[in-house]
Amino acid sequence: MQTAATALAPLDAPLIDPFGRRIDYLRVSVTDRCDLRCVYCMAEHMTFLPKAELLTLEELDRLCSAFIRRGVRKLRLTGGEPLVRRNIMSLIRALGRHLATGALEELTLTTNGSQLARYAGELRAAGVRRVNVSLDTLDPERFRAITRWGRLDQVLEGIAAAREAGLRVKINTVALKGVNEDEFESLLAWCARNGHDLTLIETMPLGEVDADRTDQYLPLSTVRARLAQRFTLTDLSLVTGGPARYVRVEETGQQLGFITPLTHNFCESCNRVRLTCTGRLYLCLGQEDSADLRAPLRASADDALLDQAIDAAIGIKPKGHDFVIDRRNSRPALARHMSVTGG
Ligand code: SAM
Ligand code: SF4
Repeated sequence: MQTAATALAPLDAPLIDPFGRRIDYLRVSVTDRCDLRCVYCMAEHMTFLPKAELLTLEELDRLCSAFIRRGVRKLRLTGGEPLVRRNIMSLIRALGRHLATGALEELTLTTNGSQLARYAGELRAAGVRRVNVSLDTLDPERFRAITRWGRLDQVLEGIAAAREAGLRVKINTVALKGVNEDEFESLLAWCARNGHDLTLIETMPLGEVDADRTDQYLPLSTVRARLAQRFTLTDLSLVTGGPARYVRVEETGQQLGFITPLTHNFCESCNRVRLTCTGRLYLCLGQEDSADLRAPLRASADDALLDQAIDAAIGIKPKGHDFVIDRRNSRPALARHMSVTGG
């Protein structure tokens, strides 16, 4: 039986959830695979999805385009590592057509940077203007330890190539207790020298990762208090539609973001949903609520069923999450890894 919402929504009706939040931001995890194994993100030995379960790039394009028709203005490709999906540039170039028409305001990527040297120029040509690169340390040994086998120089080359291609690069750094907590000042300085904004992220309890989360968790309230002893941090009222709170570092003019899902609940202004590479739509990063879009996508060549499924899914978007990490709650809040929904 159809609900009123699923039966009546016109083909270009905006997506409004039960709490009145307009959904205009879609994150797409184009693959769950990655060339690194960051200790807070993945276990060393991961079982990835069989390739047969993945949506094709054409199907991903059709799904993204349906969301864009329904008012999604910002699209972020992520993963796993988006740039290790074979032929990913064909999807990015195809999505670029929505930038050209103005339907899409921004097409961005979150990447570990390992493949950026190869793709930076093509990304820029496809209409990408900004990328977020995850970088937790500037120390090669530490980098290897955090990523289990990554090479820092490869990522730094990628970041330099992105800059040279005219892409703005924002650096994302996960704050890890006892691992990189002595590096935030030097990371901030390095970012200032190279023209990058920096966002610090608290670890979130997603998926089994071999380590104890309570050992990794460092509240950003502590980090901010420490940085405030060295720098003048002015709160910015910047609204990006994302979960970050921003300050300006007066000494450098940089923007510094704090993503604090555990110490600051950001759900009330949530405008986003997340699509996995198998076509499952997650309505909240911190909850299990999800809907399968692959079946309606494949059931017919036109988008009527898909639209109904999208409406029904938006209709169950939860109000928010309730992550907790403490001694009693060191188990993952959710079994799925960040690489499934892409963060
Ligand atoms: N591979 C790409 C990368 O690393 O940027 C994109 C996917 S990765 C899952 C997206 C972001 O999530 C990265 O900035 C990563 O550091 C962050 N991340 C992964 N697992 C996390 C966790 N458990 N808690 C907080 N952030 C996490
Ligand atoms: Fe890969 Fe990104 Fe997860 Fe690191 S954070 S393992 S680079 S998906």
